[in-house]
Amino acid sequence: THSYSDGQGPLPTAVLNQIQDEMFNYSNSGKSIMELSHKSILARDLIDDTVERLRKSLRLDDAWDLLLLQGGASQQFVMAPLNLSKEFDKVDYVDSGYWSQQAISEARHCARNVSIIASGENQHYQALPSIDTLNSRADARYLHLCTNNTVMGTQWHQLPDSPTPLLLDASSDFLSRDIPLENVNCLYAHAQKNIGLAGVTVVAVRKRAILNNNLPAYLDYMSHITAGSSYHTPPLFSIYVTNLMLKWLEEQIGGLSSMEEINRQKAKLIYDAIDDSRLFRTHVNESDRSLMNVVFSTGNSISDEAFAMYCKGRGINTIELHPRGTGLRASLYNAITIDDVQSLVTAMHMYQLTLSS
Ligand code: PLP
Repeated sequence: THSYSDGQGPLPTAVLNQIQDEMFNYSNSGKSIMELSHKSILARDLIDDTVERLRKSLRLDDAWDLLLLQGGASQQFVMAPLNLSKEFDKVDYVDSGYWSQQAISEARHCARNVSIIASGENQHYQALPSIDTLNSRADARYLHLCTNNTVMGTQWHQLPDSPTPLLLDASSDFLSRDIPLENVNCLYAHAQKNIGLAGVTVVAVRKRAILNNNLPAYLDYMSHITAGSSYHTPPLFSIYVTNLMLKWLEEQIGGLSSMEEINRQKAKLIYDAIDDSRLFRTHVNESDRSLMNVVFSTGNSISDEAFAMYCKGRGINTIELHPRGTGLRASLYNAITIDDVQSLVTAMHMYQLTLSS
């Protein structure tokens, strides 16, 4: 049998405890949240409260709509171009590796004039294209960026001062830092990294950016806006967990900027350990290193695997073999504490000692 400890995944223990406490009696209804009708007042209140908290965290004014949708970020690769551009409009993308390529290939099903205006390909996506070279076309509808590339371990630490409005995939660093939205027309992020479980995806979109494109109802942002994110049966349990995560985030003293500071400290601990080590290395360009996903390696897949096993044996789950077979990845999402990262760093030191003894 296993006992539970912190740092196992994207939910803090406090949130898991609350889910357990309320499992059979959500908000004194005598029902489980999983049994609640989505037409009930409690469900409506939960959705409205979650939207309100998200609006507050992102500091959205009346010019913005905020939606809770299903279909993950993958669905937004399609829905965003369908709603923000017309078939023959120009739309621009930056290719920073795997997830941005998914977005580009999906956009090509919706728009005929998709341009990749900058790419990290010739640097094997270990560096982001220089921010000064992001020359989007002046008459493009938007410029799409993936704010944090989960697979490559790169992150935009600054957004371009683009004349073209930005469309952001913020799935893997959402609410891990404060993002200025002045140049942004639309931002989407699934919940399962920093604010809960798969099943719900957040879309923040400027009202004036939504075009009237006569889309099938489900794909049209307007259907969901008109219906207050209940155009069809909403994923109440996932929304509930996001609601708890938002409350938990608000309780972190100082809100988002302190979360960002903590995330910075967490990332520094592990990058310093890598830079000081003779065993581990990262090829990610220093100024583009992600605070969320630290991609590194021993340079040898057998010893990467051995280290991952060593960590598992010590109950450290912040690290995994990279799902694409390119070494190791430590994911430092909001729920991971400085202590969790410290345990990983200690394991890195201890492991190197066992090798050299
Ligand atoms: N965008 C980024 C940055 C991701 O990391 C992922 C998945 O991990 C996706 C999009 C796809 O998200 P989903 O599985 O919710 O469709």
